[in-house]
Amino acid sequence: MKSGIHPKYQKTTIKCACGEVIETASTREDIKVEICSKCHPFYTGQQKLSNAGGRVDRFKKRFGM
Ligand SMILES: [Zn+2]
Repeated sequence: MKSGIHPKYQKTTIKCACGEVIETASTREDIKVEICSKCHPFYTGQQKLSNAGGRVDRFKKRFGM
């Protein structure tokens, strides 16, 4: 296989506002997001929300929940 067929598709990191860093591959570098699978209510659910404490309160205020 030739290298460079997909020159813009590379390993990078996604940094979330909650502090989570996710390694992935993308056409973009140094992606920053406000929400990720670790802090999104859909993924965290009720159980983890109750464990997260103040972080969730700030999260809720930010998004008006
Ligand atoms: Zn997050």
